[in-house]
Amino acid sequence: MTITYRAARLLTSSDAEIIQDGVVVVDGELITAVGPWSTVSTSLGNSQVKDLGDVTLMPGLFDCHVHLQLDPTGMSTTKVTLTDEELLPLMAKHAAKLLDAGVTTARDLGSRGLTVITIRDRIARHEIPGPRMQCANAPLTVPGGHACSMGGECQGVEQCRQLVRQHKAEGADLIKAMATGGFLTPGTHVWEARYSQEEMDAMADEARKCGLPITTHAIGTEGIERAVEARFNCIEHCSFLSTNRRAKFEPEIAKKMVEYNVSVCPTMNTACSHDNYFCPWDAREAVMEVLGSLRKAGVNVVVGTDSGIGHCHFERYADGLFAMADAGFTTREIIAAATEKAARVCRLEGVTGKLARGLAADLAAFAGNPLEDIKAFEHPRFVMARGEEYKQQPIPPREDLTEIKDQVIKMLRDGAGI
Ligand SMILES: [Zn+2]
Repeated sequence: MTITYRAARLLTSSDAEIIQDGVVVVDGELITAVGPWSTVSTSLGNSQVKDLGDVTLMPGLFDCHVHLQLDPTGMSTTKVTLTDEELLPLMAKHAAKLLDAGVTTARDLGSRGLTVITIRDRIARHEIPGPRMQCANAPLTVPGGHACSMGGECQGVEQCRQLVRQHKAEGADLIKAMATGGFLTPGTHVWEARYSQEEMDAMADEARKCGLPITTHAIGTEGIERAVEARFNCIEHCSFLSTNRRAKFEPEIAKKMVEYNVSVCPTMNTACSHDNYFCPWDAREAVMEVLGSLRKAGVNVVVGTDSGIGHCHFERYADGLFAMADAGFTTREIIAAATEKAARVCRLEGVTGKLARGLAADLAAFAGNPLEDIKAFEHPRFVMARGEEYKQQPIPPREDLTEIKDQVIKMLRDGAGI
């Protein structure tokens, strides 16, 4: 039997007009009909109707960059000390928190071992609640490099190729590399490329042969440029930190990103909030300017939050959307980056990212109308992942970090040696 979800407003995709008094009809995991109540209701038969009330019902959202293994309550590093048995319940809790925010698809871009595959598969079997997961497992990193404790150390063309193949064999959905150092792993030089062009080319080539997309963490411009030259599918952070250790947008590189179809996941999150800014690599204005320039250059930008890192809570997804708005993205552009553009980057455009007959019943409803007030994303009222209704927990307010944020920035910058 089908269930019909009726809402005061329905937004079927980022470029659609709002349908007043709309419905989505769900049968099992799939959507079977979408449209105005006045037309769809005539053919509903004995479908059960659930009225969601004064909300905007839209496609479930994507978070293209999370770390289910990392605990955001405190200033985590990339070194995870819990055993796998201890990690699994924590990761399941974090997956559920993504649903709290309306996220129904997420990419885990760095976890030790195979625990994230276990979580992905349990979610897929509806054993535990959570978004559809895509897993990169341990990121490829140079010996001693960013997040090396996750187990993805490799160097030289042959080792890089071998590790990509091993990830494929382990069931990874995509490959993640660490093209530069990172703030959360002390001593790894965030502004420097850590892999040679040959190594980057080899990873990208092997990933293509394995049929997997490849993305990379890249803070420094040198690493970004190598990833673009190697035709990576996506670049995480993409902060354009130059060798003088300040953010400086490079239009020529951005032009190539457009030409080579390299997307960017800028990982805006709670740390980028205007009232509690603690993003370590530069002043907020500089970070916003880089992001705004990527937008103006026409680079395909998708939403991801890096949730799991210190004080970036999984359920506070909306903070990243607000930062994108501050960088100049329109609300419709943000919704596209969080839905169909993200779906294309995840190669899921035939599966989810819009509300249409035959696509997955991944739904999120927000109080009010996000197109009129983006703050609506802070107030999810209903979430369904692959046809399963989820009973959300309320989203706690942003942590007050006034006391500690200077310490946090100092710790990160000291760790990175800048
Ligand atoms: Zn990350």
